[in-house]
Amino acid sequence: MQNTKPHAAILASPGMGHLIPVIELGKRLVTHHGFHVTIFVVSTDSSSSAQTQLLNSPNLNFLDIISLPLVDITGLVDPAASIVTKIIVMMRESLAGLRSTIFSMEYRPTVLIADLFGTEALTIADEFEMLKYVFIASNAWFLAITIYVPTLDKRVEDEHINGQKPLKIPGCEPVRFDDTLDAYLDRTDQVYEEYIRIGREICMADGILLNTWEDLEPKTFEALRDQNLLGRVTRVPVYPIGPLARQIGPPVLDNQVLNWLDVQPSESVIYVSFGSGGTLSAEQTIELAYGLELSRQRFIWVLRPPVDKDVSGSFFNAGNGPDGSASFLPDGFMTRTKKLGRIVHMWAQQVEILAHPAVGGFLSHCGWNSTLESILNGVPMITWPLYAEQKMNATLLSEDLGLAVRPLARPDGVVRREEISKMVRRIMVDKEGYVIRKRMKEAKGKALEAVSKGGSSDESLSRVAEDCVISLQSGNRANDH
Ligand code: UDP
Repeated sequence: MQNTKPHAAILASPGMGHLIPVIELGKRLVTHHGFHVTIFVVSTDSSSSAQTQLLNSPNLNFLDIISLPLVDITGLVDPAASIVTKIIVMMRESLAGLRSTIFSMEYRPTVLIADLFGTEALTIADEFEMLKYVFIASNAWFLAITIYVPTLDKRVEDEHINGQKPLKIPGCEPVRFDDTLDAYLDRTDQVYEEYIRIGREICMADGILLNTWEDLEPKTFEALRDQNLLGRVTRVPVYPIGPLARQIGPPVLDNQVLNWLDVQPSESVIYVSFGSGGTLSAEQTIELAYGLELSRQRFIWVLRPPVDKDVSGSFFNAGNGPDGSASFLPDGFMTRTKKLGRIVHMWAQQVEILAHPAVGGFLSHCGWNSTLESILNGVPMITWPLYAEQKMNATLLSEDLGLAVRPLARPDGVVRREEISKMVRRIMVDKEGYVIRKRMKEAKGKALEAVSKGGSSDESLSRVAEDCVISLQSGNRANDH
C-alpha cells in the first residue's frame, strides 16, 4: 500500500522548552500541510508532571507520539556535567531506539526533522533515504553563532573567549563576550566539542527550520543567505517558519490565578517566570520579592525554591513538587502582598496568563518560547537571562528590537531590589513602558501576519512541505517499478 501523505518524523530533545515547539511544528504540518506526523520523545528518568500533562492532552490525538525507551546514561556522563551535555548524551543513546522504530514502521517517514540536540540522527535519515531537516527552536542570530564558531581559527576564538572581545559574525550583530553561550567558555568541557559538532552537522541537513520570522531579523537572514557572508557556511536553505507557539487551551475552570486576573484592571499585572527550569539563588529570590513589593505593582510570580549554584535546576522535572512552601521569602511578604499579587508554585499556565487582558508585563528568563509567547500577546518584557542562548535573546529584545528593558546586576551577578522595582515601574507605569508596549503590539501584528496564510513563514513551511511531497512521489514511483 502506498503512502499518500508525507509523513514527518520529528525528534524532540528532553525538556518542555524543546517539546512544546516541536509539538507546535507537528500540529502545523498536520493542519496546514496535510502531513502525517510522528513525534519521538526522548524519555528521562525524572518524569516531569508538566510534560506528562502536555503529552496526554486530548487535542494532540491527531499526532502519533512515541516515547523512546529510557536510556541509562550513568557512567557515560559526569554527574556534574552541564544539562546540555546530559541532554546530548541521552539523545545519542536514544538513536538505536529511533532507528529500530523507524525501521519497523509500516509507513516509512518521508522526512526526519531533528531539533538542535538531535543532529546525530540525520545519519538515520540517510540510511532510510529520507529528507532531513534541523529545527532550531530559537532565532536566526543563535543559528549564526552556532554555525560560525566551528569555522573560526583558534586565534579569533581566543580573542572572544580569553580576550573578551565581541565576536564579529559576518553580516550580523557582533556577540558580546558577556552574552556568549556558556558552551564556548571552556574548551576542555565536553559541551564545547558537542556544540562545535552540532554547528557543523546543522549545515549538512537539506534545510534549517527556525522558529522566528523574516521581519524580526532581516539583517541576520540576509547574512545567512549571502555567499559572501555567512551563506558560505550555511550552504543549505534557511526557512523561518515561526512564530510557532502554544495557543491557549480550553477555558480552565476554577483556576485561582486566572479568576484573580479576571478582577484586575487591564494591563496592570506583571508576570514573573523563569521558564521550565530556571532557578534563582536564595539571595536573589529575596531581592526579587522585595523588588516586587517596592514597585507597588500587581504581580504573578511562578516561585521555585532557591538553588544556589545551578540556574537550570528544575529542567528535567518541570512542574514537579514540592509542597508549596514559601519559607524562603522575606518574613511577612505573603501577608503584605496579599492584595497585590499571587504566587504560583513551580508551574503556571503561562500562555493563558500572558493572553489575559489584565497582564501588562513579563519579567522573563528570555527562553525563546517565552519570548515568542510574550510577543504574540503584545506583552512588553523585562529581561532576566539565566543560561543557554538567553543572554543573546535579552540583547536582541532590549537593544535591537526595543521590546524590553534590561536590569543591571551588581558585579557579583545579583540584581538589587531597587533596580528590580525600577524596571517593573519602567514597564508598567512610565511613559517608556507605554512606548515599548506599543512597539510590542506592532511586533505581534507582524508575527501573526508571518504565520497567516500567504505570510512569509507560512510560505517558507509550504516550500518545505512541497519538497516532502516531491520526495514522497518520487519514492512511490520508485516502488512501482
Ligand atoms: N512554561 C509554562 N509554565 C511555566 C513555565 C514554563 O507553561 O510555569 C512553558 C512556557 O510557556 C514555554 C516553555 O514552558 O512554552 C518554556 O520554554 P522557554 O523556551 O521559554 O524556556 P526553557 O524552559 O526552555 O528555558
